[in-house]
Amino acid sequence: PERTLVLVKPDGVRRGLVGEVLRRIEAKGYTLVAAELRTADAELLGAHYAEHEGKPFYPALVEFMASGPVLAVVAEGHRVIEGFRVLAGATDPTTAAPGTIRGDLGREWGLRVTQNLVHGSDSPESAAREIALWFPHL
Ligand code: ATP
Repeated sequence: PERTLVLVKPDGVRRGLVGEVLRRIEAKGYTLVAAELRTADAELLGAHYAEHEGKPFYPALVEFMASGPVLAVVAEGHRVIEGFRVLAGATDPTTAAPGTIRGDLGREWGLRVTQNLVHGSDSPESAAREIALWFPHL
């Protein structure tokens, strides 16, 4: 079965939403393969977000992602890459649909798009690359 990399971002960890995100992943029927709580360094985040380097929001994104621990998770299941992105909802929590992680739990007031609780790989190539970065032993 397919695997994806999920991150509960520092805002999600700070707000105590790790259990809620894992509950939704498991309730959907996906299997947890690996999970680790860690504060990412600039090297890891630079590699993870290489495609966004040079964009206006990149410095703030990397600073935010290094601001505290993230929960990195590898989840497995039928079409989990696309399925988790549906669970997560649109990038901007303001317009993410109700029923999604970002739509239900994203703060609607004073929230920057950067702080959108979770990350999920967007393609099989990204998933393979990101899983190798965060879990080199897998
Ligand atoms: P992710 O890859 O984290 O699952 P995504 O695919 O919905 O999210 P991307 O376009 O890949 O979004 O952007 C990666 C991350 O960069 C977003 O999750 C968000 O945290 C941040 N980001 C994206 N666009 C903006 C923006 N315009 N302003 C601020 N931050 C942004």
